[in-house]
Amino acid sequence: MANLRLENITRRFNNVTAIEDITFKVPDGEFWVLVGPSGCGKSTIMRTIAGLETATSGNLYIQDILVNNVPARQRDVAMVFQNYALYPHMTVAENLAFGLKMRNFEATKIRERVENVARSLSIDHLLNRKPKQLSGGQQQRVALGRAIAREPKVFLLDEPLSNLDAQLRDDTRAELKQLHQRLGITTVYVTHDQVEAMTLADKIVVLNQGKIQQIGEPQNIYAKPANRMVATFLGNPSMNILPATYTNSTFQIGSQSLACPPSIRERLQPRDGQGFDLGIRPEYIEIFGSFSKQEDDLNSDLWALEKLPLEVEVKVVEPLGRETLIRAALPILGGDNSVTSIQIQVPANVRLHPGDRISVELDFNHLFVFDPTTGEALYP
Ligand code: ATP
Repeated sequence: MANLRLENITRRFNNVTAIEDITFKVPDGEFWVLVGPSGCGKSTIMRTIAGLETATSGNLYIQDILVNNVPARQRDVAMVFQNYALYPHMTVAENLAFGLKMRNFEATKIRERVENVARSLSIDHLLNRKPKQLSGGQQQRVALGRAIAREPKVFLLDEPLSNLDAQLRDDTRAELKQLHQRLGITTVYVTHDQVEAMTLADKIVVLNQGKIQQIGEPQNIYAKPANRMVATFLGNPSMNILPATYTNSTFQIGSQSLACPPSIRERLQPRDGQGFDLGIRPEYIEIFGSFSKQEDDLNSDLWALEKLPLEVEVKVVEPLGRETLIRAALPILGGDNSVTSIQIQVPANVRLHPGDRISVELDFNHLFVFDPTTGEALYP
């Protein structure tokens, strides 16, 4: 077991900067997840840790030892990549044992480790099969098992579950979590899957265009994103961004005005008259009524309810089982036809149809405000 420290790591390929000034420290035994859009530098970070890529500048430490010049095979780092390669001519048992044999482990020790790992991944009944006699999911477990059997200092997993079907992916994710709890091996994990990131990570590192945007515990990043990119990237369906202006304690979205909640007013007062991006997650928007009902409903005390009403037109209705996702159009400029799309998550029993015009309420306790130019979070 070991801690892992990246210090100001930059990697350039000719004129492409794949990663820039990456600094973070994974404490001994923690499970960290790297997320970010395609091309943001996740694999480059993993390959640099593994020693398959040389940093242009910066330092990498494993267990507080500088390993910049230590070759990959001496770093005691085990990797499982999306396109794992099992040795096709070897049985499962031989594949699991391979790394241990290369390190001259005793035969009895090898057998013991292979059996333990196979049992923990439920592949112990497959030990005599060759890879081509296994399903994709079983092959993936063997690849994981081969890395686990080595009991490395650091475990690098680059989208290891992406070849599995949904059910197997869920099961293997839970197994991975249990396995990590048991073995406590320092792990860095790359995924595009939000659920994997949120459920597995001690800390999430959000990357964009080669740079770290935010590092934090999953729930903290979700609740308090550092900027618009992080806010819209984490969460599925993703956060709505509504362009607005703020004048005299009022947000203006197209022709619609919303009184600015007192808690936000203070923060925005010095920027009166400017544009902002308002953020609200789909689960914090509620259907409030149809246009015909609106006047009555407006009589209720919206301030007391801590809700902000908006009028939108339903465009697409997507039933998801437990809830339904509504995509609606919200006019953003008075007079012309400019609209922005807004996503609303409603209970499955709410029946709506494309073309319905409805009022929705934004829960202002869950409102975010971003600088429209820099994307920096201004509130909360
Ligand atoms: P994905 O999610 O699609 O796997 P990623 O976040 O892992 O992407 P990287 O593969 O690390 O991204 O790539 C980061 C950037 O560096 C990209 O712009 C990529 O085109 C560039 N890059 C990576 N490897 C090389 C290389 N060998 N030569 C030139 N550019 C490269």
